[in-house]
Amino acid sequence: MKKSLICVSCPLGCPIEVEIENGEVVAVTGNTCKRGDAYARAEITNPVRSLTTSVKVENGMYAVVPVKSSGPVPKDKMFDCMKKINAVTVKAPVKIGDVVIENILDLGVDIIATNCDPGI
Ligand code: SF4
Repeated sequence: MKKSLICVSCPLGCPIEVEIENGEVVAVTGNTCKRGDAYARAEITNPVRSLTTSVKVENGMYAVVPVKSSGPVPKDKMFDCMKKINAVTVKAPVKIGDVVIENILDLGVDIIATNCDPGI
């Protein structure tokens, strides 16, 4: 089986073909550099994404504050992470870099505020 990907590791966006046999990557072609090879293999075996969203704020100037994951999250854990994040309300004041959820789902990744809310 072949799968086509676009490498997103740099702005060049090389089109990559990955050949998969029995769930294993047997060949990667189209990449211009080693980063493309690593990206393609990871995308097939353990795809990850940065998570950006927002959480509710209590007594805030705004209803929500934007947050992001401190590192990549496995793609198949995104919905579970969002359930946890949607269940959280932070109290103002909120500062940039505040940890909203520590080590979400034991993934070794924190959810941190990317903007501030001084409160009302
Ligand atoms: S394969 Fe290398 S050159 Fe091509 S998009 Fe990926 S990182 Fe950039």
